[in-house]
Amino acid sequence: MLFDMDGILFDSMPMHARAWSEAVTRFGLSMTSEEAYEHEGRTGKSTINILTKRFWGRETTDEEVERIYKVKSDLFNSYPEAKRMPGAADLLNQVKRDGFQIVLVTGSGQHSLLNRLNKNFEGIFHKDLMVTSFDVRQGKPSPEPYLMGLRKAGLHPWEAVVVENAPLGVRAGVAANIFTIAVNTGPLPDAKLVSEGANLLFPSMTALAQGWNTLRNALS
Ligand code: CA
Repeated sequence: MLFDMDGILFDSMPMHARAWSEAVTRFGLSMTSEEAYEHEGRTGKSTINILTKRFWGRETTDEEVERIYKVKSDLFNSYPEAKRMPGAADLLNQVKRDGFQIVLVTGSGQHSLLNRLNKNFEGIFHKDLMVTSFDVRQGKPSPEPYLMGLRKAGLHPWEAVVVENAPLGVRAGVAANIFTIAVNTGPLPDAKLVSEGANLLFPSMTALAQGWNTLRNALS
């Protein structure tokens, strides 16, 4: 199973949205918290580029990306550490117990990621089964991150399942031809996830954890 991280494993999206909104304002750009959710999953560069095109009528530069993304990251890191998403540990433990490989596929590029994962989900994640922003050229909604996750796990698309909370993440999973489960843990309407082609929709990670046995039998 291929798991997205922010908004799936950690309840970190409210803080990411706030950090984006505050950071871009300092550079004379503007993004509402809701728009931050709509761009969730994109690389920092892609998100910043959308704003510079809209407000300044041009592509962003690498230097701007570096400066703006640093402010965004510093703000995010100044907030309290995000908590585990309720239900996430329960689901991961069941999936591991049932013998499935667990692959992390995130657009995040924090160097301390594995430590943080191990602290919160002991014995679940492995560095060889992680796709981060350092591994891919194109972030979600490109299928590249999920295709790389398949490759690292040695799986075919039809043998895998994606768990995603963001519309663009669902689009990426669907574009990789993988059965994609959307979990709506944020403020966007369900229709945004369904219209991207999600195969199933759950209202929370707790609900997905509770439904896992039934789902596993249905999928196999
Ligand atoms: Ca996410």
